[in-house]
Amino acid sequence: MPFQGKIAIVTGASQGIGEAVALELAGKGASVALVDIRRDGMETVARAVRELGRPVSVHEADVALPESAGRVIQEVLDAHGRIDFLVNNAGITRDTLLMRMKDEDWDAVMNVNLKGVFLFSRAVIRTLLANRSGRIVNIASVVGVMGNAGQANYAASKAGVIALSKSVAREVAARGITVNCIAPGYIRTAMTDRLPEDVKKAFLGIIPVKRFGLPREVAAAVSYLLSEDAAYITGQVIHINGGMYM
Ligand code: NAP
Repeated sequence: MPFQGKIAIVTGASQGIGEAVALELAGKGASVALVDIRRDGMETVARAVRELGRPVSVHEADVALPESAGRVIQEVLDAHGRIDFLVNNAGITRDTLLMRMKDEDWDAVMNVNLKGVFLFSRAVIRTLLANRSGRIVNIASVVGVMGNAGQANYAASKAGVIALSKSVAREVAARGITVNCIAPGYIRTAMTDRLPEDVKKAFLGIIPVKRFGLPREVAAAVSYLLSEDAAYITGQVIHINGGMYM
């Protein structure tokens, strides 16, 4: 059990990649603090974590709100006594072409995807610094590196996550803390299920392995970055995209 005694916070943990990460870490012995804007989905994930025999706590919070991060970090410390890992996974899309993009589309995506990562990383960092160990993994996206028509807001937010991660990685490396990103390509979740069929077909055409990725394939890489084996990896972006971007 490589993560026995470790406490992991996972945001956006109700479904999709966040759910897979929570179950992967619990399966390897971690206690898990689930964070999501919706409680109902989290309760289902929490039951699954309990079935694996691991302690779990549920924290309803909007990661974009400045008051959420401090409250959640305190709740996690109260519930579990320490924090070892933060996985910033909560994310949204508001896709449309630039010329039609409303201020609200821009702000909503930046606030959840980028500001949420800033707020939660800042709130947890004192605890990790005091421990002189810890791991932060941020879920970016391949489009944060490639760009994508119709996703100017989302791509900019994910590019921001990569730059934020590299900057924080430099700040905390000497204290035994690593900060890395995963950049998934097309992964089958609720976020991608709602895309039109022609868009899905177009994606499939540019993925060399000729299939979409699975949440557990992202979770496996998160688990690796959190592990002791990855202690010398920081400020990096691991791409998981079936070869869509090389
Ligand atoms: P998902 O199925 O939509 O799950 C995201 C979860 O985050 C949902 O439970 C969502 O709740 C929650 N959430 C949204 N806004 C939140 C907020 N303000 N505060 C707290 N929780 C919030 O998405 P996913 O596909 O698993 O994506 C997870 C991460 O991977 C995201 O950062 C996404 O950008 C990134 N990613 C996904 C793909 C892909 O192909 N799926 C590719 C690249 C990157 P609601 O459902 O209520 O909104």
